[in-house]
Amino acid sequence: MRISPAPRTSASAPSEWITGYARIESLATPQGPSRTKVDSVRFAPGARTHWHRHPLGQVLVVTEGTGLVQRRGGEVETIRVGDTVRIEPGEWHWHGATPTSAMRHLAVEELPADGRTAERAEPVSDAEYHSVQSGEDEGQAPPLSRVIVMDQKLPEALATHRVEIRRITIAPGHAAGLHVHNGPVFGSIETGSAVYQLEGEPETVLEPGDVFYEPEGARVARFDAQDEGVTFLGYFLLPDGMNPDITFPDA
Ligand code: MN
Repeated sequence: MRISPAPRTSASAPSEWITGYARIESLATPQGPSRTKVDSVRFAPGARTHWHRHPLGQVLVVTEGTGLVQRRGGEVETIRVGDTVRIEPGEWHWHGATPTSAMRHLAVEELPADGRTAERAEPVSDAEYHSVQSGEDEGQAPPLSRVIVMDQKLPEALATHRVEIRRITIAPGHAAGLHVHNGPVFGSIETGSAVYQLEGEPETVLEPGDVFYEPEGARVARFDAQDEGVTFLGYFLLPDGMNPDITFPDA
């Protein structure tokens, strides 16, 4: 028995397989006589696989968000947390997020003994992707959408006179190190990903579309760019006459 503690490392999904942005955590690979492959795949809003098929089929289990799936000749269907999808051997299909919601699923696949892997075809066009027939709105391209991604109370009324927004890029593999800001900071990830941890709290992995909040004076233990680096917008709430400042305590 071997336990792999979370968070696991993840990798960007290969662009020849994906429209948009997705990350893959490999949870199980064929080993010994086992031919089972399990991945946790997280699609950013708008991201989806190309059309493809699996030699022995595939089972998807939605674990976060809302997604879409379609088999060749069928309608685009909405899938939600807890839903499972069984894809038949050789059945052409695609799966991904909705235009406005990220989606994570487990992808469980048995690989054939001859080593064949999934076969890829053309990308899912925007017309196909936006062609939900079910009458539900998740798959339509909305002319306007307003999704609340964070609703954060502040510890006290803040005399904010100015908000400075910075685009911050951290090189692949670089760790920001323990740091403290002189005011509250909000952020949203644009590209790449980072392992994020406030001191004393669990680590999480921030990915495109994720937002975060660092309270004034909070000790940020980790903001470590993963393999492709990370770019995010940081929103610094500032009282009159103050500029953003960052300190790096020794420990
Ligand atoms: Mn598939």
